[in-house]
Amino acid sequence: MISQKKLQKYQDWLFRVSAYNMALSIIMTDKMTVAPVGGGEYRDARTAYLSGELFSIITDPEIVELLKEMKDDEDLDGDTRRAAYLYYKDAMSTLCIPKDEYVKAQELFSKSYDAWLEAKTKNDYSIFEPYLKQVIEIRRQQYSYRNSDMDLYDQMLDDYEPGMNREKYDAFFEALKTRLVPLIEKVCNAEPVEDSFLYLDYDIEEQKRFSSELLEYLHFDADWGYQNETEHPFTNWVCENDCRTTTKYLKNNVASAILSTVHEVGHATYEHDCDDRYDGMILSEGISSGMHESQSRLFENYLGRTKAFWEYLYPRLAAHFPEQLGNVSVDQFVNAINVAKRSLIRTEADELTYPMHILIRYEIEKGLFDGSISTEGLDETWDAMYEKYLGIKADKASEGILQDVHWSDGSFGYFPTYALGSAFSAQFVKKMREEMDVDEALRSGHFEKCVAWLKEHIHRYGCRYDAPEIMRIATGSDFDVNNYLDYLEEKYTNLYHLK
Ligand code: ZN
Repeated sequence: MISQKKLQKYQDWLFRVSAYNMALSIIMTDKMTVAPVGGGEYRDARTAYLSGELFSIITDPEIVELLKEMKDDEDLDGDTRRAAYLYYKDAMSTLCIPKDEYVKAQELFSKSYDAWLEAKTKNDYSIFEPYLKQVIEIRRQQYSYRNSDMDLYDQMLDDYEPGMNREKYDAFFEALKTRLVPLIEKVCNAEPVEDSFLYLDYDIEEQKRFSSELLEYLHFDADWGYQNETEHPFTNWVCENDCRTTTKYLKNNVASAILSTVHEVGHATYEHDCDDRYDGMILSEGISSGMHESQSRLFENYLGRTKAFWEYLYPRLAAHFPEQLGNVSVDQFVNAINVAKRSLIRTEADELTYPMHILIRYEIEKGLFDGSISTEGLDETWDAMYEKYLGIKADKASEGILQDVHWSDGSFGYFPTYALGSAFSAQFVKKMREEMDVDEALRSGHFEKCVAWLKEHIHRYGCRYDAPEIMRIATGSDFDVNNYLDYLEEKYTNLYHLK
């Protein structure tokens, strides 16, 4: 039995951890959105100091000992034991890294991000390459302290999606390749769907005016959420009632900001809808990257690209852009936003070719860590893979290897969860559609009914359970990739009138 005094100590510790996490989260959002570049060096040094302090708090030996005791104490409630287990696991994975190395790594990640941004702006991979190389080295070093028997990249995959490894991802991507490669081939050879009207001149201020109507429809309310603009859209949160998302407006692509907004609001809603008794502790966070991505992709693709969703919103969008959309019907618009074609930019890719973009990153990451691929000439390796899997090649590095931010801070093992998440959502939506009239809710402006289903079956649990358990709780069965592949086949067979 753990004493009241010790439990109080744990509560005080939780509060301190959440205070540092809050500060670091806001500083990060600020850096990625509005902070002047000139102050970067000053801020980065102090941010690294704060990260170091948090590191000391999380790895305080007395606390780690207490967490270890708590996670197995049958007298404690299940929530507390689960939280203690997750904190303990986190502490053990960072505890092994010497503090000065940890701080040095945080500094490197900040510099590497700036180098990535500069390289992308100047279309010059050589600016980023030395940083990427160092980031890989420092990650190698950090993992080496764990003394794990597991392969390095397997450990990284497991960090983002507990239980996953190369063997399972290899099988997953193999299933995708088997059914999707021929489907993509057929779609690309079919009569193209007209979508040129999406790429006319769309005034950005007008797009923003529609965006506020969209946020209202999605129930992304100002009392708990805030949207900003950034180069690479993301979502961050402080607590359930303080979630920050970002989007990016493109003058010649009206669907881009809309769908990225719907996607990020999916992430934010997941955080917002966690049971509020988990606020300020680890249980309030989404289970895993794949689960988080399943919720954002569910919003974006499985709701945001349906006809029912647009039956409500399209007349409103068209009213903002009478010149561009006046003669376009809702069916034409919905078909256009579902067009599949070979493309270069992952974040702009359609649902069907998207997993191929992920497959490429997965194969590169695997190669970077087993030594079969080097950072030198990686821009060429990248282009060759795009030729191989998607049949196209980037003219400039900003549309090739420099398009994604993830490698700048060493987030290796993260990309594969994007494809896994899309596959999770197919199974969730299948169940949701069995239990409620999703289309009726969407077309009548009651998006909140879909959110309520997700909250009840998924969101409220936060990371109280792991992903396979939530899959069983929400859908009654284990994860099956075929739900995803069936969905894609049916959707694209209909859209392109395939036989
Ligand atoms: Zn996402």
